[in-house]
Amino acid sequence: MQNKKVQKETAYIHKGYQSVEHQDSLAVPLYQTSTFAFETAEQGARRFAGEETGGVYSRLGNPTVRVLEERMAAMEYGEGALAFGSGMAAVSAILVHLTKSGDHILCTRGIYGCTFGLLNILQEKYNVSHDLAILNTEEAIEAAIKPNTVCIYIETPINPTMEIVDIELIAKIAKKHRIRVVVDNTFSSPYLQNPLKLGVDFVLHSATKYINGHGDVIAGIVVGNDKEEIERIRLSVQKDFGGIISPFDAWLLIRGIKTMHVRMDRHTKNAEELVAYLKTVASVENIYYPFDTSNPQYEIARKQMSGGGGLISFTVVGGMKEAQKLMNELKLIKIAVSLGDAETLIQHPATMTHSVVPEKERLEMGITDGLLRLSVGLENSIDLIEDLKQAFTKL
Ligand SMILES: *Cc1c(COP(=O)(O)O)cnc(C)c1O
Repeated sequence: MQNKKVQKETAYIHKGYQSVEHQDSLAVPLYQTSTFAFETAEQGARRFAGEETGGVYSRLGNPTVRVLEERMAAMEYGEGALAFGSGMAAVSAILVHLTKSGDHILCTRGIYGCTFGLLNILQEKYNVSHDLAILNTEEAIEAAIKPNTVCIYIETPINPTMEIVDIELIAKIAKKHRIRVVVDNTFSSPYLQNPLKLGVDFVLHSATKYINGHGDVIAGIVVGNDKEEIERIRLSVQKDFGGIISPFDAWLLIRGIKTMHVRMDRHTKNAEELVAYLKTVASVENIYYPFDTSNPQYEIARKQMSGGGGLISFTVVGGMKEAQKLMNELKLIKIAVSLGDAETLIQHPATMTHSVVPEKERLEMGITDGLLRLSVGLENSIDLIEDLKQAFTKL
């Protein structure tokens, strides 16, 4: 089983785990331990020297966490993975690993707010500069690359406007310049998009979202296609910065991942039904969804994603006041940031996730005051549409 190539859904359930190695336990055991006891002083010395495999201390590795990492590596078609205590711990570890003072990071315009905050810290304190640019053509990408660019960092679809970035194009140009590419794949999940297959170097996730899928864990994952490099990060940045995941959270993620394909299919189906409904609503102006045929980047979305996913953004006529009124009238749909949970969530980017972005930049990014983002959950879409309908009639 371990080395056999299997379909992705099968990998989500089996990869990285052998029950014979764990007292025949069907479910992955939870090794809730901080440290590991050595049989002899010499054995401890061998483990510290890396001459013998086995537990040392859970910040350096834990058997439950290791199953999660091997499973995630298989799920993203990579060679190695590292699990972290949050998506931001994953982002910061990879950026610290890839850069040194004087280097430059090129990013898509529209990145996760805390990633933007991290880039500013790197710039102010460690002389690692960055630019945010629209990277939608070969010319634009070439023009944005500087002599000291060491990393292109992208998100696609871009939050919350669902702009699509052509991963293959970026990877091709970056390779020519020997620049590493990192993709934050949180919005798509490994089920819908696999950037390593398209030529990038690292994929990362806020596993808080679709990977866990149940709204009860904060966690992050980095997957790479060079096992040695991943192990170097484990024994440097991850070990010494210490942003590791707890064994219990890893255990919950392993449990969540087993149903990821089933959940993503339902998130996507529900989202498609909601998009169809929103198109009929007079007070909805624009709808942003990757697989909507009116999306200008529909073709690129089809090329690199196997489904449109569970996130929809739309603008309400009347701006902030009407958008907030709609939210307040909802009864079933919860007002909350985050995404990828069983519960359908709605948030107002201008005053919530993107409130730190200066107004001018925010509007340039298409994040208007009337924009709302829906993370479509796993409820029956009839009830979700009913809830939206009754709220729209109050506007
Ligand atoms: C949530 C999120 C993050 C940060 O992850 P945490 O688990 O909250 O630390 C990073 N990138 C994207 C796209 C996210 O949605």
